[in-house]
Amino acid sequence: LELHPYLNPDGILGGLWFPTDGRGNATDTTMSLVRGAQQNGAKIFERVTVTGTAVSGNRVTGVRTSEGDIDAEYVVNCTGMWGRETAAEIGVDIPLQALAHYYVVTEEIKGLQKNLPTVKSGDDYSYLKDEVSALMVGFFEPGSYPWASRGIPKNRGSFIRLPEDWDHLGPFYEKMIDRVPILAETGIRLHFCGPESFTPDGMYHLGEAPNLRNYFIAAGFNSVGFLSGPGAGGVLADWIIDGTPSIDLPEADPGRTQRHEVNRRFLEKRALEYLDESYEIHYPFKQKTSARELRKSPLFHRTESAGAVFGELAGWERPNWYAPDGEPKTYQYSYNRQNWFEHSAAEHRAVRESVGMLDVSSFGKIMVQGRDAQSFLSRLSVNNVDFEPGGIVYT
Ligand SMILES: Cc1cc2nc3c(=O)[nH]c(=O)nc-3n(C[C@H](O)[C@H](O)[C@H](O)COP(=O)(O)OP(=O)(O)OC[C@H]3O[C@@H](n4cnc5c(N)ncnc54)[C@H](O)[C@@H]3O)c2cc1C
Repeated sequence: LELHPYLNPDGILGGLWFPTDGRGNATDTTMSLVRGAQQNGAKIFERVTVTGTAVSGNRVTGVRTSEGDIDAEYVVNCTGMWGRETAAEIGVDIPLQALAHYYVVTEEIKGLQKNLPTVKSGDDYSYLKDEVSALMVGFFEPGSYPWASRGIPKNRGSFIRLPEDWDHLGPFYEKMIDRVPILAETGIRLHFCGPESFTPDGMYHLGEAPNLRNYFIAAGFNSVGFLSGPGAGGVLADWIIDGTPSIDLPEADPGRTQRHEVNRRFLEKRALEYLDESYEIHYPFKQKTSARELRKSPLFHRTESAGAVFGELAGWERPNWYAPDGEPKTYQYSYNRQNWFEHSAAEHRAVRESVGMLDVSSFGKIMVQGRDAQSFLSRLSVNNVDFEPGGIVYT
């Protein structure tokens, strides 16, 4: 409160302050990056549309543009929310869904203190910063909506603005007025709603496409693209120059995409769930609730009738634990021991001391064949896979 005198302290139990946090202006930052790139020999062509990507075999070879073809050893798809369609044309899957995303800028507030810390308030689904003698409130609120799921319009330019929606945003703004009472004393200069590209797991896609050599992806920034841009760009540049990323980024690997994740109905629901929950408490073992029951193993109904409480992995329903008769088949989330702990322990004991059945239908399958297959697999894994055909071993 010493740092941010405009906050109403009611209900605040604590906060974290990051004194080294910075902030930037998108236009100035972009212009300085452009200037730096040009000084190092980069050529920038504005108002040129990429109309297609050239491929030879399993390798990208360039792009076709409204001004002619460009041969290229490497191509980076950084076309924002257009990226899904740009990539789909050449058989690369990037699960991106545009969702309506909002912020509000107040009118000038005379005497407003400058350079206030940026405040993020999960319970209010909002963040707040001062912006040239005004306050800007941005939202990560539940109940947004998917936009242009069947294809992003190509003729509306880069800066698409969606209609204002006070019926939706009003209650969240009012909540924020309780938190920052000075908001009630000033009018609103701008209510901005723009589509932003979200992914079903909330992580961006950064790296080489799994099925097209030298075709790199930097997309799906889930409304932290400005924040993440410098790091993402730096890693990608290292990756292209050195052939490997300078840091390990499996969670951003474009190769994690499952076919069903580019399905329109799946994306609409799951990307929205991600945005709905962005500012909620992220409990351990939290399960997704939208777009479920996509892939079921042949044992699904048997495990379900045995009390299975399912989680989802790569679209598969997997029994995470078994609720005994009479117990609700639901998670009670907590940072302490959760309600399933004893039931999971009982299952564990049963498998150790008696017999259990593990349904591994959801696992990826790789066929290794040939004369040295057995010795190769034994060397690769920590278990011995030297056994007669017909058996199974957990590695
Ligand atoms: C309301 C709102 C608030 C936000 N607030 C923040 C914030 O506070 N902090 C933050 O970090 N992020 C924020 N973001 C998100 C941030 O703006 C994006 O994540 C970021 O701009 C994504 O960058 P990008 O380069 O991936 O895509 P874009 O910025 O969309 O750039 C993609 C570009 O590719 C071009 N393109 C597409 N197709 C073609 C083609 N065929 N040929 C040529 N060019 C093409 C487009 O015209 C566009 O210029 C916010 C977004 C919204 C909507």
